[in-house]
Parts: sequence; C-alpha cells; structure tokens
Amino acid sequence: MNTYLTSVIENVKKKHGNEPEFVQTVEEVFSSLEPVIEKHPEYEKVDLLNRMVEPERMFTFRVSWEDDQGQWHTNIGYRCQFNGALGPYKGGLRFQANVYPGIIKFLGFEQIFKNSLTGLPIGGGKGGADFDPAGKSDAEIMRFCQAYMQALYRYIGPDVDVPAGDMGVGGREIGYLFGEYRRLKGAWENGVLTGKGFSYGGSLIRPEATGYGAVYYLQNVLEHEGERIAGKTIACAGFGNVTWGICRKATQLGAKVVTLSGPDGYIYDPDGVATEEKIAYLVEMRSSGRNRVQDYAEKFGVEFFPGEKPWGVKADVVMPSAMQNDVHMEQAKQIAANGVKYYIEVANMPTTNDALRFLMEQPGMIVAPSKAVNAGGVATSALEMAQNSERLVWTAEEVDAQLHRIMNTIYQMSVEAAEEYGLGYNLVAGANIAGFKRVAEAMMEQGVF
Ligand code: GLU
Repeated sequence: MNTYLTSVIENVKKKHGNEPEFVQTVEEVFSSLEPVIEKHPEYEKVDLLNRMVEPERMFTFRVSWEDDQGQWHTNIGYRCQFNGALGPYKGGLRFQANVYPGIIKFLGFEQIFKNSLTGLPIGGGKGGADFDPAGKSDAEIMRFCQAYMQALYRYIGPDVDVPAGDMGVGGREIGYLFGEYRRLKGAWENGVLTGKGFSYGGSLIRPEATGYGAVYYLQNVLEHEGERIAGKTIACAGFGNVTWGICRKATQLGAKVVTLSGPDGYIYDPDGVATEEKIAYLVEMRSSGRNRVQDYAEKFGVEFFPGEKPWGVKADVVMPSAMQNDVHMEQAKQIAANGVKYYIEVANMPTTNDALRFLMEQPGMIVAPSKAVNAGGVATSALEMAQNSERLVWTAEEVDAQLHRIMNTIYQMSVEAAEEYGLGYNLVAGANIAGFKRVAEAMMEQGVF
C-alpha cells in the first residue's frame, strides 16, 4: 500500500484506539484511495490526509435539564465541525445513551464524503448527546432540547453550521430546538436547522427523503443488471423514518418490504409493509417514541421473532437501515448463504469492515455503500436550506424530482470514479473516491490551514 496512506492510517489507529468506530470508518474510506493518492503525490506535501482526519473543530458542552419530578440531570452534548471546505458544516444530531466522541467522529467523517457526493454546497459535521430519549415525557424532551440549544446556539447558523435529525432526533425535537434558537437570537434564521415542520420552513419530502433516495439508488443498480424493481422482495432492518420511506417508495414501484426490525426483534410480513394503514402505523409508532415492532405484528397479524434480526430471511434485496455495525461476519455469511444478490447499505456504516469485504467478494453479489445510498436525506436537507434562503416553498414534485436527479448522479459518479481508476464495477470504492476527490480539490485550492 502507498506509504503515505499507510502512515496516516497508522497514525489514526495509534491516536484514536479508544474510538474504534472512527478508526473503522477512516480505514474503510482510505482503503479505497490508493490509486488516487498514487496519482497525486502533491497531497503528501501539504499533509492533506492527516488534515482530513482531524476535525476543524469539535466541542463538548454541559446540558443540564429538569425532569418532571423536579430532579436535575446532566448530559454531555457534542458538535463536531469536521470539514467545511465545501460549505457550512452539515449533519444531524444523535441523542442516544451510547453517544461518545468516537460515534460523533465516525458519523462526522462519513458525512464529509456523503455530503460531497450530493454535489451540493455542504461541509461535513455531526453532533448529539449521551441522552436517552426512551421513556421521557414530551415536556422533558422539550426542556432537554432547550437546554441543548442554549449551549449550542452561538456556534451554529445558516451559513456556519446546520444541524438536523439523526437517531433520537426527529421533527418534534427539531421544533423545540428551533424554537429555542429563535428565542435566543431574536431573528428569523430558519435555515439554521433542517428537518423542520412544514409550517415553519421544512421541506416537503424531507421526512421520507432518505428512504426514497435509497430506493432510487437501488433502481439504478437493478437497471445495471438488466432487472426491474417491480416484483422484488426487500428485507429491511429498522423501523424509523428511513424504513417507512423505503416501504412507501418500494410499494409505489411494485416491490415489497417483507421485514422490519426494532430493539425487540423483527417482523415478517409476507404481504409487504405496503398499505397506507401499515405505513401510518409505523409513522405514529416512531413519532410517539414506542420502539416495539411486536405491536405491529400483533396489530396486523404477522409473525414476530423476538430478539432476532432479519438476516436469515430469503429476499432479493437486503437493506440494513437501523444502526452501525449491525452486520458482522456471522450475519454476512448468513446473508450470502441465502443467495441474496443485492446488499444495499442504508444505515450509516451498518457493516463491519471485514463483513463488508466478505460480501463484496461474493460472486454475483452487488454491494452498495451507505454514504451513497442514504445521501438523499442530507441532499434534501440542502434543498430545504435553499428554499429557506430564497424564502420560497417548492412543491413535493419539485423536491422529489431534484432528489431523484441527485441520486442518479451519485450512482453515476460512483460508477465512473471506480472505472477511471481501473476498479471495475465497484460501488463502494467508487463512492469513496468520488466523495474524496471533490473535498480534496476544494482543500487544495483553499490553501493549508
Ligand atoms: N442524519 C442524516 C444523515 O446521516 C441527515 C443529516 C442532515 O440532514 O443534515 O445523513
């Protein structure tokens, strides 16, 4: 391997051994870059790669909030402004008990290249808190969001850093965060957050954009194989807005999502999660914070598998859409043994690096990486920012058409980038290379700092 590339990876391993998710994503992205680095020896002179793995800025802050019984609690808030070469830092906030710097940095690093792939002017960032929203009342969530924004508002803005949702942060949380930002700033700067409600500047299609985008990407892959999406069965893991977006678009196009999963297990619905009633049930389940897919199984009379994930299910397409590192070697072997042809990552980094390599080596299997497949979410966030800047509201058709075009371009760019470097049809390496090239070019042109 290229000596500069190796030395940077070694450096990250040595310095950040206590942040395994971050080390994992750096290794994954950089392992695709060898031919690019070989072609650009000038990158080493300005130490481009070591600059890229170090956030421009990352901070933690105290978030103290009062529960309904009058007891105060303290959590740690984070924001990582990873790379601003392409535009204002952009990326979601994750509220989950296991959040620590390694998670924020892995998500922030992925976000740099994902945002680059969209072709839109957005840099990479991510944030969150080690706050567990499960079981909290609405008033507690509001107070937590207000306290969080009190600490963060000085450091963000429509042209500075634009947070959005991620796990544990949906429309409700964005509403409370925006209300507090507006109160503190005394100005109408609604481009400061995305994923807002439609009444105060949110974009149509944003809630379902990640799922829609993933299906548009899948269509491109299928077309490449001379196949059609109609009639395909899809096994999804996850149950949140990404998953129901997939369910809705897949159904419209004649495919069928047959599994969903939550922390309690997975359901198998042979008729597909296809009717508006079923999808509305998922939307309601997610917005009310009930994380039990067993309820879905009971309501619609389908099978429920407690404590399990759907990797053993036979389907044409597998779409892990829940969280990082869901698929290890063991699950990858199960998926391969089932003869699955399309492994389409949707959640951020749902596959461990060895499992990903294994799946990519399976003859006849096509693997698509999450940073390309799920980029429709953040792309539509950037479309929301554009609408807020021009103080206009686009129709659902306009947003959807832009999203569709962006997803087709991401796919095309990835295919071409891999071909350009002699890697054949390799969507994983192609996305890493295409995402990297735009960031590298912008950093080179902006000088060393
Ligand atoms: N959290 C989402 C992601 O992983 C969306 C970020 C955004 O819209 O800014 O890309």
